[in-house]
Amino acid sequence: MHTQIAVEARNVGKIYGAGQTAITALGDVSIAIEKGEFFTLLGPSGCGKTTLLRCIAGFETPTAGSIYLSGEDITYTPPNERPVNTVFQSYALFPHLTVAQNIGFGLKMQGKPASEVKRAVERVLALVKLEDFANRLPTQLSGGQQQRVALARALAPEPQVLLLDEPLSALDLKLRKEMQSELKRLQTETGITFVFVTHDQEEALTMSDRIGVMSAGALLQVGTPHDIYDRPVDRFVADFIGETNLLDGQVEQGGVRIGTGDVLAVTLGAAQGKVTLAIRPEQVSLAPTGRGMTASIVEKTYMGTDTHYKLTLSDDSHLVARVQSNSAISFAVGQDVSVNIDTQAVQVLTS
Ligand code: ATP
Repeated sequence: MHTQIAVEARNVGKIYGAGQTAITALGDVSIAIEKGEFFTLLGPSGCGKTTLLRCIAGFETPTAGSIYLSGEDITYTPPNERPVNTVFQSYALFPHLTVAQNIGFGLKMQGKPASEVKRAVERVLALVKLEDFANRLPTQLSGGQQQRVALARALAPEPQVLLLDEPLSALDLKLRKEMQSELKRLQTETGITFVFVTHDQEEALTMSDRIGVMSAGALLQVGTPHDIYDRPVDRFVADFIGETNLLDGQVEQGGVRIGTGDVLAVTLGAAQGKVTLAIRPEQVSLAPTGRGMTASIVEKTYMGTDTHYKLTLSDDSHLVARVQSNSAISFAVGQDVSVNIDTQAVQVLTS
């Protein structure tokens, strides 16, 4: 199938300032986001994700490279001439305008006839399930409802691409979860390409079709949530996405020798020499001492359906195991156990 590209960044760089105080916010970023995709830019604070989003929106001009929208070079097109809209973390609704007026404001400014504005407002109000709130003022709404109005306002002009810059970070956890599925539903229903920025890996994993992981102005990996979680390309991605154990080791015949002297029969590929093993806590299982590697339990944390055990291995390195709380065997702090690692699932990282 021929996929169509909605947004493309080609070799985009962005340097703020000049001389000694210059800050490279984006190094050399290339990315192609498909039409109808829920694409997330994920990375820690300061990695450049907002800068990339702002280059797509037109609020920043890249210092190198180009931005394309549906194949057209828009690098220097003013923001209001791009069929792109942005939802910010602070929803900045006009306090003296009703919900309906807030949503219709942009369209009215564009000189659209009143009947068209009304139709668009009704359509997006239904989309965000706020039909009954059209005449309220923003102060008469909850935080979640205000965020929905901000979304409706951004969707009203039917943009080709909706950019979302940490739109949920001001909401409390429960509301945030609700809005996550709401956003996902909106994206599916409208078919609009969403480019979503977050530093929250769980949010990225649950909502996205694909994720681009960024660090220090570079795009490290682009893939589906499964790709990123199961096959991180390097230590940074493995560590940033989900909880992971990182053990140093040395490639040998038949596997990787870790600090304890044990050789784990992991899939090596082309790896040679010193490597890091990325082992997810759910890939570590425990049994009363018997065969295999032994460890001692130093911490036990009940997390509801799972229990996390922190273990010390014979070389004093640590490993976290996640075990279902309802499993028949439970262990106590101070107890010695044998550790079994699902070696087929372990990722061997060379950088
Ligand atoms: P956050 O999650 O904290 O918003 P981010 O990943 O979105 O972070 P950016 O806002 O893109 O990161 O910032 C990338 C780098 O560029 C940072 O070092 C930041 O301090 C710097 N930066 C961003 N905007 C400007 C600006 N207008 N002038 C100078 N430096 C800037």
